[in-house]
Amino acid sequence: MMAPSTEHDVAIVGAGPVGLLLAGLLGQLGFRVLIVDKRLVSPAQSQAIGITPPSLEILSRLGLDADFIRLGVPIRDCRVHGQRGYLGCVSFRDLPGPYRHILSLPQQLNVRLLEEKLTDFPGVTLRRGVEITAVEQAPDKVTLHGTDRLITAKWVIACDGHRSRLRNLLKLRTTGGDYPCHFVMGDFTDRSGLKEEAHLFFTAQGAVESFPLPDGKRRWIVQSPGPLPDAPNGFISRTVKQRTGLELSDEDQLNRGHFTPRWMHCAPYHSGRVILCGDAAHLMSPIGGQGMNTGWADAEFVAEMLCAIEHQHQPAAPLLTAYHRYRRVASRSATRRAAIGMWLGTRTGFFSSWWRDFFLTNVLFKGPLTRRLGPHFAMLTIPYRTVKQLPVFLKFKLTALNGRRPSPDFSPERTRKTHAHPRR
Ligand SMILES: Cc1cc2nc3c(=O)[nH]c(=O)nc-3n(C[C@H](O)[C@H](O)[C@H](O)COP(=O)(O)OP(=O)(O)OC[C@H]3O[C@@H](n4cnc5c(N)ncnc54)[C@H](O)[C@@H]3O)c2cc1C
Repeated sequence: MMAPSTEHDVAIVGAGPVGLLLAGLLGQLGFRVLIVDKRLVSPAQSQAIGITPPSLEILSRLGLDADFIRLGVPIRDCRVHGQRGYLGCVSFRDLPGPYRHILSLPQQLNVRLLEEKLTDFPGVTLRRGVEITAVEQAPDKVTLHGTDRLITAKWVIACDGHRSRLRNLLKLRTTGGDYPCHFVMGDFTDRSGLKEEAHLFFTAQGAVESFPLPDGKRRWIVQSPGPLPDAPNGFISRTVKQRTGLELSDEDQLNRGHFTPRWMHCAPYHSGRVILCGDAAHLMSPIGGQGMNTGWADAEFVAEMLCAIEHQHQPAAPLLTAYHRYRRVASRSATRRAAIGMWLGTRTGFFSSWWRDFFLTNVLFKGPLTRRLGPHFAMLTIPYRTVKQLPVFLKFKLTALNGRRPSPDFSPERTRKTHAHPRR
């Protein structure tokens, strides 16, 4: 017999980067939050590394941007090479705003920082080893069936990743598919001399991408001819040598992974009192590094929206519709960009690489488009990338009204903390 647990304002399913950030934002707004994850520990294998300026802005709400920057590597330049050699540079040095770089920080480190931050908020509880297997909705609450308990909450946020159990239980419609390309990746002790720059090599045999990591490491991602779950030892170093001429030592390889990029969109992003956030709502190619960043922007919207609904008593239905509408536009834009960038970089064969070199040299790296590349890849041109970029009427509902004096039934310990936006 399962014992019912105490009720929570919000239950978050999934303590990946999106669920953890959302728990922190809601904790800061005074919500009683339970966040559960079926895993006892977060995975050691790193996925996301690239953190864009809009995400650093969102993280600054929790005062975490400085910690992230202290542990990460700021990538200020991304150098692009083609079949004929060096083609041009995407520079982030002139980005508007306080963050003039893309930050490289492995996902397991950002998850650790986000998890540690939760201890600042007494209203937030993280429970690991709890798998959600069923969901029941009532007009005023949601009940989740966890491994050993029932969890009731006014709102449930599904941050349970691209295979989302909650999304499937609610029978929400999805569209999606695989992209026709495959990658093998590995982190290496870095002896390349490429410093803090990212390098992209688009060659006739396939793409190679290389990004600096903290602690003197570097990630190498190579396009493979087919799915290679068991890539032989030395595959990455041999492929890098063949396509770029750079020597990597197999002894320096620290881990290995592979992936076939997929895309997926869910519609709508909510059902009753369950709201989807992050990869549960949308999946995009990791080549482009935008999935987690897009999920963090969902989390910011959801935190403000729940504050407007619960603390300012605004009607839920129009805000939920707006969440679906605006976050879908943002995630589709990010998905499209990631797909186009990946398509351009992964064309193989002599003719395709000649054409690509010509296009990059004469169109993208020449003339007025060059200046737009930095903001484009830093996600500064994604529509509605943070709550600040929403249309004025919605921003007013979400932020200006939320910032008003609390209504009478607003308990004192729920007062929103103010936080300085860092300027450097
Ligand atoms: C190789 C690779 C590189 C990437 N690089 C980047 C990058 O540079 N930048 C970027 O922005 N994005 C990148 N991404 C995408 C990024 O990793 C994802 O978008 C991000 O992890 C999504 O976070 P999430 O919290 O939504 O889901 P997840 O990270 O998938 O977390 C979901 C959590 O839910 C838990 N869970 C699932 N089901 C249940 C259940 N029933 N009950 C309880 N818990 C459950 C899981 O255990 C998991 O901890 C990359 C992805 C890959 C594969």
